[in-house]
Amino acid sequence: MIDTGELAPMEVAARAGRLRDRFDEAGCDALLVTRMVNVRYLTGFTGSAGVLLVDAEGMVLVTDGRYRDQASEQLGAVGVAARVEMAQTAAAQAQALGAAAAGIARLGLEAAHVSWAAQRRYASECFTSAELVATDGLVEGLRQHKDEGEIARMARAAAIADAALATIRPRLGERPTEAEVALELDSEVRRLGADGAGFETIVASGPNGARPHARPTRRAIVEGDLVVIDFGAALDGYRSDMSRTTMVGDPSDIQGRMLEVVAHSQVAGVAAVAAGVAGAEVDRVCRDVIAEAGWADAFLHGTGHGVGLDIHEDPRIARTSTATLVPGHVVTVEPGVYLPDQGGVRIEDMVLVTTGGSRCLTAAPKDPHLP
Ligand code: ZN
Ligand code: ZN
Repeated sequence: MIDTGELAPMEVAARAGRLRDRFDEAGCDALLVTRMVNVRYLTGFTGSAGVLLVDAEGMVLVTDGRYRDQASEQLGAVGVAARVEMAQTAAAQAQALGAAAAGIARLGLEAAHVSWAAQRRYASECFTSAELVATDGLVEGLRQHKDEGEIARMARAAAIADAALATIRPRLGERPTEAEVALELDSEVRRLGADGAGFETIVASGPNGARPHARPTRRAIVEGDLVVIDFGAALDGYRSDMSRTTMVGDPSDIQGRMLEVVAHSQVAGVAAVAAGVAGAEVDRVCRDVIAEAGWADAFLHGTGHGVGLDIHEDPRIARTSTATLVPGHVVTVEPGVYLPDQGGVRIEDMVLVTTGGSRCLTAAPKDPHLP
């Protein structure tokens, strides 16, 4: 049964203050937030267009008439104090932003999310008297740490995906196509109360499973297939992410070994997740098990990633990761082995880092065999 009770509130209104604390280090006095998922994080606004200016004292959200009511309602609902301005044309928007930014000496831009054209327009039309400063991941840095309300949403999204998989997985023995299974999972998560799929559902069977990010095809699932299902649910913008691999029929010796090795690697990786542990260390723990089995080259991706409003966000769990885990991080642990002649095996859980250790938010059974 999925809990349908009220979810803990998110502390949206406190986020701008934490963002301001990062301005000095970033060398700016204000930040122009143009990445919509970051606007949502800071204000609760879920529209598809808008620009948020956060300065030392306040916030101004410039959006258009489609969001006249929605913008103030959503900000008000989470107690965010910001001025909302409507601007219908690009010129009016430039003027509103310019006026809002008057007196700001150093204005930060989200460098990874501003196009060349936008940057030129900002420099020549909107913010002619400010120095534009490239910033990197200021809001994303805050987003890594989830509050109770965010965790509650991700946990419920994960529970919905668990339940959807339990309903749909028995069908794998009935020769459905990958696309049919994906569609059924997507419908089921919605039926169970999710806003939609957490991301594009992966159902990859037989040879397709050897490609970690295969898209569902019209291929029918048959005896002898390993079937990688990687999917999740979205709730209030927050996502869940889980992979399970199912063996349809009896595994070959190699398939049996793949299932064993990946299961062992994944359990070791989850056990390694704790506050103070480096992302690179969790990756190493998983990778060592697979390398010992002789399949180092068949583990084709990083071990995991943060999850939240984006399906892939920081911190990364990879060889090259510089992150150290802290309580409130939610990361995946998803080692895999991919062999073109056997298929793929991936097992993935979404894990919350706690003060005492960690807690898996995904709970679907990992037994690869159909009941
Ligand atoms: Zn996944
Ligand atoms: Zn993932």
